[in-house]
Amino acid sequence: MSYHTLVASVTVQFTLKIAGREMEASARVPAGPARVVDALPVLHGIAGAVVEAAEEGKRISCRAGCGACCRQLVPIAEAEARYLAALIQSLPEVRERFKAAVAALDAAGLGDRLRRLEQLAPAERQALGLEYFHLGVACPFLEDESCSIHPSRPMSCREYSVTSPVGNCRNPHPETIAMVPLPVKPSVLLFHFGDGKGEDRLRFLPLILALEWVAEHEDDPQTELEGSDLLLNFLRKLTVKRAQTESSGRTE
Ligand code: SF4
Repeated sequence: MSYHTLVASVTVQFTLKIAGREMEASARVPAGPARVVDALPVLHGIAGAVVEAAEEGKRISCRAGCGACCRQLVPIAEAEARYLAALIQSLPEVRERFKAAVAALDAAGLGDRLRRLEQLAPAERQALGLEYFHLGVACPFLEDESCSIHPSRPMSCREYSVTSPVGNCRNPHPETIAMVPLPVKPSVLLFHFGDGKGEDRLRFLPLILALEWVAEHEDDPQTELEGSDLLLNFLRKLTVKRAQTESSGRTE
């Protein structure tokens, strides 16, 4: 099982409007029916473009070799869980790191709440996030304090970009962490994208439970749409959400 080799693909050209700029872009998407997981590399690329546009002109503190944020509770979409599971299918050492991390979190009494993350109220999620961070359990993909899957990392990781001093990330707190504000969070759109249209209920899980979740849901049916429709539906949702946040004057 691999989500990285497209058997056949087509090029879709589109205009991306971010941070007051219009960018002509093109992307290769699967030709014919595809699952959201098949389109993830393209959707990740769009998320990267949104973040890059938001970062323009700012002094970004994040550097390779600083993995402070990689001990946080990272929410990912179900499609990302499938993508990551496929990515490490032949990497037993990473799978072992997943097992050890989940065992440490279970032993610390976080397992039940992590498995119900979607159902927790925002304040409970925030409290869990702090407990999680203070345990210091590193992401299984962290090697030498750098992300070993940087080009394939989840959307939430791409969106975590700060301008506050690096040292503040070792004890993150809303008052001391200045994240780059985004006009729209592509990860949240992806959490609603189980139907390939962005109308689905919110579906997400902690990265650390990706393998466990996939083992339990491997045979669940997955929506299939034309690859180009998946891309265009995501772009439409991005445009609508961006317009909403701009008219409200807020960022995410
Ligand atoms: S996937 Fe990479 S960037 Fe994201 S938390 Fe893990 S090591 Fe860090």
